[in-house]
Formats: sequence, structure tokens, C-alpha cells
Amino acid sequence: MSHICEAVLITCMDFRLHQRKDGRNYIADYIQMMGIDCDLVTRAGGILDLLNPAKNSFADSILRDANVSHQLHSAHTLLFINHEDCGAYGQFKFKTRHEEIRKHETDLRWTLKTLHLLFPEKRIIGSFAELENGTTDVFNIHKVFQYMP
Ligand SMILES: [Zn+2]
Repeated sequence: MSHICEAVLITCMDFRLHQRKDGRNYIADYIQMMGIDCDLVTRAGGILDLLNPAKNSFADSILRDANVSHQLHSAHTLLFINHEDCGAYGQFKFKTRHEEIRKHETDLRWTLKTLHLLFPEKRIIGSFAELENGTTDVFNIHKVFQYMP
């Protein structure tokens, strides 16, 4: 018996995005808003290991999970969500919030272009979880880029 789902979502492992003890779950809300079922891959830094892996095997690991989702569940959409105040991006020592958000948007666009070459038949959507002003754990997720085959 096969199990089918529409998408695989690759995002950061950061607990602030996922199930909280107070009931919030930004990633689950996003999936529900998209109206899809999806496999979930969580990595420190989300897509960062695709662009700038400390070891090549880190990038391979993300691609392996995307491939497993494709092969086992026929996922035809790749979703990526990076987020503001990501610890894995701390190495870039951003001077301003604007600079940080620009880096994530640039990285998301690079990922979409690169993965489009690997998976030309897939829909690809990159999104960014931005903190609500004055908060450290209230996120609004918005789309940065989308590719439709
Ligand atoms: Zn993070």
C-alpha cells in the first residue's frame, strides 16, 4: 500500500517554529494553511546546509530526504522555510535586521534555482518566518519565491 503526500517541507529545527507547550505551532499552521499533507525535514539552519555545508554529507543528507519523500510518497512540491533569529545563521554576525532578512532571501532564491535543476518537474516554494516586531518567538511566514513547472 502506498502513501501519497503533496510536499516535503524543509525547515529549521528551532523549537519556536514547532509545537509549543502553549499550543502554538507555526509550521503546522503553515501546512494547514497550504491545504496539503507533507513530509517534514528539520535541520539546524533550514537550507543553510545546502548552501554552506560544514561537511558535504550535510547537503547530501537533505537531498536524500527530499528524494525519499519523492520516491515513497510522490511528493511533487518542495517547500523551504527559513526564519529570522536563526542560531545557525549567527555565524554571519548580521549588523542589521534588514541585512539578516536579505541574506535569507538570497539563500532561498539560490536554493530554488539550484533545486530546480535537480528536480525540474517539481513546484518549489521558499518562505521566510519573520518575527513580529518586538517579539522573540512570534512568527509570520510569508512567501519569498515560487517556481511552478
Ligand atoms: Zn534556525
